[in-house]
Amino acid sequence: MFKHNFHTHTAYCDGSSPPEDYVIEALKAGLESIGFSGHAPVPFENHFAIPDNDSLKAYAGEVEELKEKYDGQINIFLALEADYIPGITFDFKHFMEDLSLDYIIGSVHFVKNRKEGLWFIDGPDRNVWLQGLAEYFNGDIREAVIAYYRQINMMIQTQQPDVIGHFDKIKMHNHDEYFREEEPWYSKLVMETLEIIRDNGCIVEVNTRGLYKKRSGSLFPGPAILKEMNKMNIPVTISTDAHKPGEVGLLLDETARTLIETGYREACIYAGKGWESVSLL
Ligand SMILES: [Zn+2]
Ligand SMILES: [Zn+2]
Repeated sequence: MFKHNFHTHTAYCDGSSPPEDYVIEALKAGLESIGFSGHAPVPFENHFAIPDNDSLKAYAGEVEELKEKYDGQINIFLALEADYIPGITFDFKHFMEDLSLDYIIGSVHFVKNRKEGLWFIDGPDRNVWLQGLAEYFNGDIREAVIAYYRQINMMIQTQQPDVIGHFDKIKMHNHDEYFREEEPWYSKLVMETLEIIRDNGCIVEVNTRGLYKKRSGSLFPGPAILKEMNKMNIPVTISTDAHKPGEVGLLLDETARTLIETGYREACIYAGKGWESVSLL
């Protein structure tokens, strides 16, 4: 089964604990690799990202020290989960080069409307999602979802992240109420984005957090999308998006089984110099 996790958050951003606690839990869970992917700084006030350049350097330094300390026991990688908001966030390349990152996960947590309003689609509070939908998109779910996928498309084309974070997080607070994933307009948006992912050679993470936090009824992305991705030969990795050390191994095996059911036989791991495929069987 899959013994790797490339998406974790420590106390340097919105996670609970110092990086070493995650390494210790990863060893207990029998993981072979752990990647740290703190939220990259963003140029507006917030409570989730690594706050400034000094903290970013300290984060990178601490992860580099852990790489040496645990050499031979577990592979440790330095990464970031970077937000993409057109015209607002920093270029991913700036972080890659400045910190010599191993890889970067690109994610959309804020959807920009036509008037620079930012709709926060993540977090535990559904009311924030509902209020944002009303305020920034006049309750027009279709326009809002189009804006979400368009922003992911732009992120891929302008920033070239290694990994696409929680592909369909937009569904998390929907609860099948405002749109259904089977609707043709929604499927069309998903397929358009998948084609862009395939053409740009990105990896899609299969993110278990929505399930174990009981905020989503399915993985990000869900099984129907995974089936399409497999037909298109889009590579995947599995990650838990851990915000606490005890979350580093949650649902990895179950998700590997789901991937096998959807047709996948391999998943990607970062292996120091690049991404490699490993068997899921
Ligand atoms: Zn995220
Ligand atoms: Zn994350």
